[in-house]
Amino acid sequence: MTSSVSAVSQRALRVAASATLAITNQANALRAAGQPVIGFGAGEPDFPTPGYIVDAAREAVDDPSTHRYSPAAGLPPLRAAVAAATTRDSGLAVDPSQVMITNGGKQAVYLAFQALLDPGDEVLLPAPYWVTYPEAIGLADGVTVPVPTDDTTGFQVTVDQLEAATTDRTKALIFVSPSNPTGAVYSRERMAEIGRWAADRGIWVVTDEIYQHLVYAPGEFHSLPVVAPEIADRTIIVNGVAKTFAMTGWRVGWLIGPSDISGAAIRLQSHISSNVANVCQRAALAAVEGPMDAVDEMRAAFDRRRHLMVNLLREVPGVECLEPGGAFYVFPNMTGLLGRDLGGRRAETTMDLAALLLDEINIAVVPGEAFGAPGYARLSFALSDANLEEGLGRLIDLTT
Ligand code: PMP
Repeated sequence: MTSSVSAVSQRALRVAASATLAITNQANALRAAGQPVIGFGAGEPDFPTPGYIVDAAREAVDDPSTHRYSPAAGLPPLRAAVAAATTRDSGLAVDPSQVMITNGGKQAVYLAFQALLDPGDEVLLPAPYWVTYPEAIGLADGVTVPVPTDDTTGFQVTVDQLEAATTDRTKALIFVSPSNPTGAVYSRERMAEIGRWAADRGIWVVTDEIYQHLVYAPGEFHSLPVVAPEIADRTIIVNGVAKTFAMTGWRVGWLIGPSDISGAAIRLQSHISSNVANVCQRAALAAVEGPMDAVDEMRAAFDRRRHLMVNLLREVPGVECLEPGGAFYVFPNMTGLLGRDLGGRRAETTMDLAALLLDEINIAVVPGEAFGAPGYARLSFALSDANLEEGLGRLIDLTT
């Protein structure tokens, strides 16, 4: 049945389709048509989930207790294991009652803002930012206030910039280190300054630590409520198993917050989706309380590819690339490629450039526009060394 008046709500109409998924879909369509597409768009590790985690899931499938509903807040042993791992890895004392298990870190972001925001509350969001944050803020009737940064300052926001963007409606700041899309890792000092500033201002911090285990030596991971304890009781942590344990498809993440916030998120969850799939929670339990050797190996592989990627990108005339300190993305400045003859075509924006690169040399990158940062592009190095070399080789050939 068709109708000339759309029945779709204003709220749903306001949600933008994910630009990262859009580029992946286009790349998949070209690949299905037989084109040798190399995708730099992926936001996930290319490794399989470690075997002992898969085995734990297999055992859970045969355990009848997993066949039933379980608490909306998450399986008690998993909540306890997440609290213990947070103390071990971040140095933060957490009570299991503060932990809520979610359908991926993405749902933790959504629930954090649903629990925290009233209509019109403003949220400071340093740009470039991960595409989901502004949508999750908007769905909670909040207002996103982007705070732009660029490569001249390593994509790191300063207290002065945050202060300038603050109004009497500012409720929260999103703080992400390591960052998607830039890979930037904040120093302990800058992080502490930002945390202290937020505490002075009475602003909440939602800190996304999903790339916590992907910080490359000599850099170190720091957790904002640990380096600035004065903000700990106004901090919500988002995290999950997806990136650390190559478990993006299992959909297990968590939110850690003061008990009133966690409690509100759990109440919401109980009506939205009840518990996260028990088999997946049991797999996550094996991950969170298990050894970290597989994670160390994956990090070493990403680190090698990081150097390979940065070195190759620096051979592309017109591209400038900072070395990311964490995650598995580079976010090069591509403005030097705009307006130039590239295989007989020109791109005036990085959005056009991404389309041109996909058509002309079959490489998929995500344009900076998707992250609130035109002029840049995000390339993931979660792909094989051979593909990485082949894809960037095509870019070097096109531009030299
Ligand atoms: N936070 C950031 C910064 C991310 O990049 C992602 C995944 N792209 C997530 C959260 C969510 O991860 P997931 O829902 O797969 O756990």
